[in-house]
Amino acid sequence: AKSLGKMRYEFFQPKMAASQKAQLDLENVISHALEHDEFEVVFQPKIDIKGGKVAGFEALARLNSSKMGWVGPHEFIPAAEEKGLIDYITLLVCERSCAFINAMGEVPDDFKISINISPIQIADSRLFRELQSMISKAEVPYKHIEYEVTENSLIKNEEKSRRQLDIQRSLGFSTALDDFGVGYSSLGHLKRFSFCTLKIDRIFVDDVHHDGVSKVILKAIIEMANSLNMTVVAEGVETVDQLDTMLDLGIDHVQGYLFSKPLAAQVALDFLAHFAYP
Ligand code: C2E
Ligand code: CA
Ligand code: CA
Ligand code: CA
Repeated sequence: AKSLGKMRYEFFQPKMAASQKAQLDLENVISHALEHDEFEVVFQPKIDIKGGKVAGFEALARLNSSKMGWVGPHEFIPAAEEKGLIDYITLLVCERSCAFINAMGEVPDDFKISINISPIQIADSRLFRELQSMISKAEVPYKHIEYEVTENSLIKNEEKSRRQLDIQRSLGFSTALDDFGVGYSSLGHLKRFSFCTLKIDRIFVDDVHHDGVSKVILKAIIEMANSLNMTVVAEGVETVDQLDTMLDLGIDHVQGYLFSKPLAAQVALDFLAHFAYP
């Protein structure tokens, strides 16, 4: 046991130091980026494939750091969560989303921009009040903003999460369950949490194509979502074949590279202005 202990120490010590340093650097990079306006927000269209129009956009954070270059959200989001900086990013995303809606001119009643809420934020009533106040000040009707939360965030703190989501919905905000089909997917959550929108994860969309069982399961999920009056969105649709399958299954909206990658605000506004489908 002694030698194992020693080996462990020698083996892991340098690695741990390196990753701790990387964490520290990333914390600095994020704070610096927040202070110097290095975060960007991009918008990916969600297409209403029955109505043939743009249903809305998902707002996604980007970091173009003067110290590190482009850093992906899979890196900076977990670091921002850990270092207590995620709220600043969410507020920035919200601010740009409001600006986007205000730049649109005429906004269809059911048009929505969705904002990602991290698991550690979901029960934070202070953050939601700040978001609400920002959206009010921008004079954006609440119905145009949707909060996307993932299922694992519900599991940790089911009562508080439910209460917060209920409050947001009663204020007029829309709520979406993100990444459904990965992790702890449970049909029970669909019932207990009355979300407005269900987002089927890209992994499911991929699988369905060459897996009959997935298709049967997805069919059942969509039926249930429809009976609960939820809008169903398929994520990560990249090919015409996948689009056809989604049409077949009765999916309401699709989001994915087939229609568009996430776009800078001005490009997204142009996309919206010139969109034609089919
Ligand atoms: P997500 O919420 O599931 O967002 C969708 C991700 O899928 C985006 O990645 C988008 O660019 C990507 N995507 C869209 N269509 C396709 C496709 O057809 N094929 C493929 N391969 N990918 C597609 P992105 O922007 O890199 O974001 C990754 C994750 O980072 C997001 O996953 C979300 O969990 C998180 N994230 C991004 N911005 C924020 C934010 O402002 N706050 C929080 N809490 N999380 C964020
Ligand atoms: Ca999302
Ligand atoms: Ca997702
Ligand atoms: Ca995801």
